Amino acid sequence: MNTKNRIYDVIVIGGGHAGCEAAAASARMGADTMLVTHKLETIGVMSCNPAIGGLGKGHLVREIDALDGLMGKIIDQAGIQFRMLNASKGPAVRGPRAQADRKLYRESMQAALKSQDNLTLYEGEVENFKIENDAVKGIILSGGTVISCETVILTTGTFLGGKIHRGLDITPAGRVGEKPANALSKTLKSYGFPLARLKTGTPARLSAKTINWDVLERQNPDKCPIPFSYMNDKITVPQIDCHITYTNEKTHQVIRDNLDKAPMYSGQIDGTGPRYCPSIEDKIVRFAHKDRHQIFLEPEGLDDDTVYPNGISNALPIDVQAEFLKTIPGLENVEVKEWAYAIEYDFCDPRDLKNTLESKRISNLYLAGQINGTTGYEEAAAQGLMAGINAALRSEGQEKDFTLDRAEAYIGVLIDDLVSRGTQEPYRMFTSRAEYRLLLRSDNADQRLTEKGLEIGCVGSSRATHWNQKKKALSEAENILKTAKISPHLIEKYDVKINKDGRIRNAYELLNYPEMTVERLQVIWPELKNIDPRIMDQIKTDALYSGYTKRQQAEIESFRKDEKLLLPETIDYSTIGGLSNEVVQKLETARPQTLGAASRIPGVTPAAVIALMRHVKKRAA
Ligand code: FAD
Repeated sequence: MNTKNRIYDVIVIGGGHAGCEAAAASARMGADTMLVTHKLETIGVMSCNPAIGGLGKGHLVREIDALDGLMGKIIDQAGIQFRMLNASKGPAVRGPRAQADRKLYRESMQAALKSQDNLTLYEGEVENFKIENDAVKGIILSGGTVISCETVILTTGTFLGGKIHRGLDITPAGRVGEKPANALSKTLKSYGFPLARLKTGTPARLSAKTINWDVLERQNPDKCPIPFSYMNDKITVPQIDCHITYTNEKTHQVIRDNLDKAPMYSGQIDGTGPRYCPSIEDKIVRFAHKDRHQIFLEPEGLDDDTVYPNGISNALPIDVQAEFLKTIPGLENVEVKEWAYAIEYDFCDPRDLKNTLESKRISNLYLAGQINGTTGYEEAAAQGLMAGINAALRSEGQEKDFTLDRAEAYIGVLIDDLVSRGTQEPYRMFTSRAEYRLLLRSDNADQRLTEKGLEIGCVGSSRATHWNQKKKALSEAENILKTAKISPHLIEKYDVKINKDGRIRNAYELLNYPEMTVERLQVIWPELKNIDPRIMDQIKTDALYSGYTKRQQAEIESFRKDEKLLLPETIDYSTIGGLSNEVVQKLETARPQTLGAASRIPGVTPAAVIALMRHVKKRAA
C-alpha cells in the first residue's frame, strides 16, 4: 500500500472492541480512516469471556447501537444464549446479555469493517508518533514507516507492557499467544503520560467432551430472545443451554494450600485487579465464609468443543489448576485446552484526558478502551465510539465536540467518571453508577440518542429511516392513546379501580397505573389492538416512568447549570482562597473541564466548589 503521500483523517491503533467502534464511527462520519493493528485476523477477538452485555454493560451496548455503532448488531448475529438479566425487576435495571459464539462474533465484526466505506485495514505495530507543536501528525510503525494523519485514536487494550502470569512463570504478552506493545509503552512514558499497572485474569478453557454434563444444573436461554440492536426484530442464531456447577471445600483447600504460588499473593503482581470480577484465589481469601462459588459452564460456540468456565479465573501454576479443577462436580475428568492466566499491563490515568477523550498533553490524540483503566468489551466499545466521532469532527476542522452528560447516557457517566475521578482499579459499569438511571433505560436508548447521532452525522441512512418510522409510530400511538378518554364512573364497568374524582382520564394516563395492562385497555378501546405491540410496550414503559421524568427535570436542570460553567484551562488553583492543599492537588491532577466535574471529584468539598464558582465568575466579570 502506498501511504507515502496520503494523509488520513483518522488513524485508529488497535483492532479490539474500542478500535473497531472507533474506526467504524469515524468512517461513518465520512472521515478517511485507517485501522492499524498487530494482526488483521485478530480484529474483534474477545480476549476473555465470550459474552456481551449484562447489568449496566447491556445499557452501554444499546446506547452504542442507538448511535449506529456495531456491537449490538454484531452480537445479534453471533449470540447463542440471550438472557434478560433482572427480568422480574423494573425496566430501568434490566440488563440484556448474550453469550457469543466467539468465532461468529469475530468474523461478523471483521465482515462489518471490511464492508465499511472510507476505512482501510492495515497490519503493523505502531511504536511511535509523528508529533509537531504538541500535536500528533502521524504514526511510526516498527521498521520506520511513517503514515501521516490529522488525528490518532489509541486503543491498545491490555497490550502496553503486557505480562502474563501463571504461577511463577512470567511471559511478556498482550494476550495469550500475542506479543505485547513494549515500544509504544516506552514512547508514552517518554512523552510523560501518567502510566500505572492494572491486572485482570481469565479462566482455563475446557474440553466439552470431557465434562460430565449429566450431574449439572441446566440454564436455559430466554424463550423469546430480545435483540440488542434496535434495527433487529428477532434473533435467528440457534440458542443453546449453559450449565452451572460449584466449587466446594476441597477446591478451596487446594487453592488455600497453594496461595504462596499465586502471583497476586506472592507479590509477583503489582497491578490492581478488578474488584467486581475477582479471581478464584481472591474470592477464597476475601469471602472465606462462603463454602462454595458458582461456575457457569458456557460453550464458546455452536461448532466449538471449548467451554468457558465463568467464575474461576486465576493465575495459579498449571499443576495446581489441574488439581483444583478435578474437585469440582462435572469436571472430575476434565481436559484443559488452555490454562488460566492473569495479565498485567500499563494503563494511562484517564484524568489526563478531556471529556472528548482527547489527550490534554498531545492535541488530536485520543485514547479509548482498556488503556484508560476500564475493563470489559462494552466499556471499551463505548469509549471507542465517542473517540471515533470526536476525532472525525476534529479532522474535518470542525469546532464542534460530541459529548454526552450524566443525565443523557451511561456513556456520559462512564466518561465523566473516568476523566474527573480517574480509577485505581479496572473500572466497570454498573447501573448504580448512574444518578438518573430511571431515565437511562436500555429500552429507550434510541429515544435518548439517535436524534443526537443524526445531528452529528454518525448515524447512517438505514438507521435514520428505521428511527424516523419508529418515531412517527410512537407519536401516532401516543396521540391515539391521549384522545381515548373515559370517566371514573364509566371505567368502573371494566372492573378498573381509580379515584372517583370525576376527572376524565385518557388511555395514556391510565397506562401509568402499574396494574393497568395493555390487554385491559384493549377491552375498553378495541381499536388500540391496531397499534404495533412493540410500540405499545415502549409507550407503556415510557408512561410508567413519565411521572418520575417530570420530577427529575428540576434536578437535571440544576446539574446542567454546573456543567455549563466551564473552568478555564489556565486556572491556577493554588491562587484561589479557601481551598485546602489537598483540594488544590486533586484539582491540579484532574484539571476538570466544568464546575460539575470538579464537584464530583472525591474529596472536593461543597465549600471548595462554591469558592471555585466565585473565583470563575469573578474572573469572567
Ligand atoms: P483489546 O481488546 O485488548 O484490543 C487491543 C488491540 O490493540 C489488539 O487488537 C492489539 O493487537 C492492538 N494493539 C495493541 N498495541 C498495538 C500496537 N502497538 N500496534 C498495533 N496494534 C496494537 N473484561 C471483563 O469485562 N471481564 C473480565 O473478566 C476480563 N478478563 C480479561 C482477562 C484477560 C486475560 C484479558 C486479556 C482481558 C480481559 N478482559 C476482561 C478485558 C477485555 O478483554 C477488554 O476490556 C477489552 O478487550 C478491551 O478492549 P480494547 O479494545 O480496549 O482492547
